[in-house]
Parts: sequence; structure tokens; C-alpha cells
Amino acid sequence: MDMTLPPRAQELADKARAFCDEVLGPLELLVDEHGELPEPERPRVRQAVRECGFAGINHAQEHGGCGFTMIEQMAIEEQLGRATNGLWTAVWRPPVPLKLGTEDQKRRYLIPSNRGERRGCFAITEPGAGSDPRMVQTTAVWRDGMWRLSGEKWFVTSWNASDFVIVHAHVDGDPDKATLFLIDKPAEGLTHLRSPRFMHAYCFDHAELRLEEVPVADANRLGEVGQGFDLTKDWFVETRLQIAAHCLGAATRALEIANEHAAGRVQFGRPVRDFQAVEFMLADSAVEIFATKSMLFRVAAELDGGLDRKRIHARASALKLYASEMAGRVIDRSLQILGGRGYMRENPVERLYRDIRVDRIWEGTSEIQRAIIAGQIKKRGLDLYSGWE
Ligand SMILES: Cc1cc2nc3c(=O)[nH]c(=O)nc-3n(C[C@H](O)[C@H](O)[C@H](O)COP(=O)(O)OP(=O)(O)OC[C@H]3O[C@@H](n4cnc5c(N)ncnc54)[C@H](O)[C@@H]3O)c2cc1C
Repeated sequence: MDMTLPPRAQELADKARAFCDEVLGPLELLVDEHGELPEPERPRVRQAVRECGFAGINHAQEHGGCGFTMIEQMAIEEQLGRATNGLWTAVWRPPVPLKLGTEDQKRRYLIPSNRGERRGCFAITEPGAGSDPRMVQTTAVWRDGMWRLSGEKWFVTSWNASDFVIVHAHVDGDPDKATLFLIDKPAEGLTHLRSPRFMHAYCFDHAELRLEEVPVADANRLGEVGQGFDLTKDWFVETRLQIAAHCLGAATRALEIANEHAAGRVQFGRPVRDFQAVEFMLADSAVEIFATKSMLFRVAAELDGGLDRKRIHARASALKLYASEMAGRVIDRSLQILGGRGYMRENPVERLYRDIRVDRIWEGTSEIQRAIIAGQIKKRGLDLYSGWE
């Protein structure tokens, strides 16, 4: 069993770390102050992503992506997760279902998205549909040779950096006919209502949209009618791995800062790291990071190795749950070790503390992950988590 990172993955991790320190790091306070990455900075960052060789890190070379393995992607994502204010999202990851689109859709959406010439956001959540997407009320009705989409979408991440949106709607209002549609911006009947502020100051926005009879050509239907959930299933597995990697990178950065501070900060005549209360916080955090890293790269290796997708799905839930809750605990302890300095906005640990909270909510809340895991134990047995297969 070889548990070392393959040389190409290590090289990519080093590159990602340099990108994070040199390109993203200097933008952190700017995004925190402005509440988003200011418009004039965006082309420069996009160009830096291309120059670094990270354009389309999650797609195959045949579609203009980088063709990285999942281990390589996670090695990159872990380093990008060190950046505060969601700046990791400056490196684009085009929506995975696009690779399942028609050749024409790949040409119009996927290939230019991998190049960073286009960007898409995804809209499934609504005021009445969060954890339970079957409650989606957005409908698609076929009339006069066009689909007509009507409804309201919330929390559409990166709307203000995107030029198209993938909308999840129910054909004729039937949840068994959940379907994805590609809508170019601007579109007749598509209104941006507002982009509220959130706990984190993120690189881009999270928008609320209204659709009123938005006309969509059949050529922009992604997949078959009723395939909406199937097309996003594998995507959510990958995004859960990405979240876990970002949580790992964020927790590691916070702990490094706390560890260094604890060694140099003298109170009562000794470095605070010599107090057992502080030592134990460092020890518990190091162990949790160690466990998360082991889980992340095991699941990534299994994905690369072609393990059955259902088992990967089940393990990705466990990984996302553990990593997001781990990061909350580690960053909280790190802030505590820093004392008042950790509470200052100029301190990365304060920003990581705010940033990381959403990881227990988006892409399936912790409660939903626990429900998935418990269901999988019932269905496939505990061996799914305790065994090797
Ligand atoms: C910053 C941010 C960005 C987002 N970006 C996007 C995006 O780009 N596109 C998009 O479509 N959505 C996006 N979302 C939405 C996100 O996916 C949802 O917030 C999430 O799925 C939870 O839905 P909800 O907020 O409606 O909570 P609800 O589903 O209303 O849940 C409320 C509470 O009830 C619990 N709960 C619900 N059902 C169960 C159950 N069966 N068992 C136990 N507990 C349960 C939940 O865990 C939670 O604690 C984003 C959200 C945020 C905060």
C-alpha cells in the first residue's frame, strides 16, 4: 500500500500553494472589505489561472479541461482551500453535467467554460425547496415551440460572475419530470431580484432570481425530461469531495497560524503552548486533520480506481460531513489559541471561522449527510464504512 502522493499530484499541489499565496492571498482583505472580488481584478485573476495551468481542473482534456485524476484535483483543492473569502472559486470548475450534454452543448458551453471564456451557475434551491428538491415549484411548460420556465430561485452562487445559468425545473410541475435547462444571460423574463449579504464575504454573490415565462429552446434542454436528478448525482459527489478538500486546507492553515502563535506568545513566563489546555487543543486538531486527509485521499483513490459509484456516493457523504464539522472545530480552537488576535478581521483565522460555517449547510446539510449515511448502513451494511471494499 503506497500512501505517498504521486509525483505529478505533489507538483500540482506545490503549484496550487504558490498560486494561493501569490495570487489569491493578496486579494483576501480586498474581498472581505468589498463583499466580493472587485470587477477590475477578475480578468487578471482569470489570466493567472490559465497561466498556472488550472483552466478546467475538473474536466477531461477532450473537452478542453486539464485531464487531472481525482487525487490530483484533491491535491490542488486542498491548497486552494487555504484561501479565505471563497477565493478558491476564482479557479473555475465548470458544471459536471455539461459533459453529459449534446455535442452542440459541449461546444457552446463546456469547452468555452473550461477555457474560462464562459461561466455557469446552478439554480435548484427555492424559497420552499432546500433539502427536499422534490418541492421545487419552478415549472417548464412546452408551448409554441419553446419551453417556458417560471418560478423563483435562491442562493444562486456566482450569478454575478456567470453568463449562463443551469435551472432545475419540473416539466408540467411534475417532480418525476425534473429537468435541467441552460439559460444564457440576459434572458427575456429572467430577473435578478437581489444578492443578499451572507456571513462570509465571498468572492462572488449568491443571487435570488425570478423567472417569468422565460423562453428556452429545446436545444438548451440538458439531458432528457425527467433526468434532472440523475445528471446532478455524480456532480454532487465531486463537489462534496471538493468541499472536504477546502475544509482540510482551511483547517490546516488555521492550525499552522495557531501553532506558530502558541510557540511565540509568552504569558505567565512561558510560551502558551506549554500549558496543557493549549497543547491538547493543538493535539486534537492535528489528529482530526490527519484523519480527514486520510479519508479524503482514500475516497479520491477509490474514485480514480473505478469503485462502484454508489459506494463512492455513500463515502463522499461521510467525508463531507466529517471534514466540514472537523474544520469548524479546528478553526474554532485555533481562534481560541490566538486569543483576541484571532478575533480581528485582519487575521485569516477570523475569516476562515466565518467562511467555513456554510460547509455544514450547502451541498447537503450535515443532517442530510447523516440521513444518507444511516440509510446506506441499513442498505449495504456497516462494512461500507468499516471495511475495505
Ligand atoms: C452561501 C450559500 C450558497 C448556496 N449556493 C447554492 C447554489 O449555488 N445553488 C443552489 O441551488 N443552492 C445553493 N445553496 C442552497 C443550499 O444548498 C441549501 O441552503 C441547503 O440545501 C439547505 O436548504 P435550506 O437552506 O432550504 O434548509 P432546509 O432544507 O429548510 O433545512 C432547515 C434545517 O432542517 C434540517 N432538515 C431538513 N430536512 C431534514 C431531514 N430530512 N432530516 C433532518 N434534518 C433536516 C436541515 O439540515 C436544516 O438544519 C446555497 C446556500 C448557501 C447558504
